Amino acid sequence: MTATLLTQGTFFFPGPTEVRAEVLAAMTRPLIAHRGKAFEALFASIQASLKPIFRTTRPVYVSSSSATGLMEAAVRCAPEGRVLSIVNGAFSARFSAIVKACGRESDVLEVPYGEIATLDQVSDALGKQRYAAVTVVHSETSTGALQDVRGITRLARDAGAVCLVDSVTGIGGVQLEFDEWELDFALTGSQKALALPPGLAFAAATPAFIESARGTARRGLYFDLVEFDAYGAKNQTPNTPAINLFYAAELQLAAIAAEGMAARWARHRRMAEMTWAWVDGLRATYGDAFGVLAREGSRTPTVTSITIPPAFAASTLVKAVADRGFTIGNGYGKNRETTFRIGHMGDHTPERLAKCLEVCGEVIGGLV
Ligand SMILES: *Cc1c(COP(=O)(O)O)cnc(C)c1O
Repeated sequence: MTATLLTQGTFFFPGPTEVRAEVLAAMTRPLIAHRGKAFEALFASIQASLKPIFRTTRPVYVSSSSATGLMEAAVRCAPEGRVLSIVNGAFSARFSAIVKACGRESDVLEVPYGEIATLDQVSDALGKQRYAAVTVVHSETSTGALQDVRGITRLARDAGAVCLVDSVTGIGGVQLEFDEWELDFALTGSQKALALPPGLAFAAATPAFIESARGTARRGLYFDLVEFDAYGAKNQTPNTPAINLFYAAELQLAAIAAEGMAARWARHRRMAEMTWAWVDGLRATYGDAFGVLAREGSRTPTVTSITIPPAFAASTLVKAVADRGFTIGNGYGKNRETTFRIGHMGDHTPERLAKCLEVCGEVIGGLV
């Protein structure tokens, strides 16, 4: 127990993120049958917390898979036709790869990693072709860029398409209003801003999206949202769910709902601003090679990707920081060695983040 407590507030990896000991412990409860009253009560309790987190009155589907599973569900269940994928990082590139792997005709609107697609760019792309769906990543975990998914959903709707939103490092850490923004589909995973162990994914869809899915051929079986919707209405899941993860989710999602979304978003915002100010300090001291990869005004508050001098290797930095008790992340994909990432999301506090940044600063001071 002592060892567990000592490590709290040190794991600033951008996913999976740190999980509180109490939440981990909840998973050791004995199993229950998934077609019984006790499970239905557990499912209903999770729903009661997920709705305020997604800001919706719709049911929130719970998939025993990682988030990629529900990305695939979104594509498989989207209206038939051509798909436009907005790509500005490794996870949005994965969304596009899923579209292709599912046999959909598609086009890619790609912008440099670290940037976002502007609404003008999206509008232009939507004007060139008739699209059935658009894929977009809200908070690009590989670069730290934040897209305007509300604006993009509106443009998609005006062009007759649905918008599939991956908000894996968004929901629970940055504002996303499923109902008020009139989103069509949004998903997240358990192991990022929700600070749960990996293995569950959550999504909401409009009634119109589910209605239209009924008419889509080759939806497959495991990720058929029509099935999730039908079973969810009975507080059940289509297949045997990861019951122990549901125990953890019940505890943690209730804690998130109790913190309140506005307070949670503000805490993330505070941690992000601390990190950006710290990077400004590095820049002032050690030069322009240090910087926040994403542009001011389109940065996610949950993860920051930091550029480093060409003489640095991110892996050396990450390892030296680990030797001093803190876990941060390498860059991701093509930015693997040229950036490092700090995941300031989930249940982390500004106080512990300050410690982590202090250690990172000392290590960088020793390397430059
Ligand atoms: C982590 C992540 C995913 C993939 O999640 P898995 O749980 O590994 O399937 C997808 N999109 C974004 C933005 C992510 O951060």
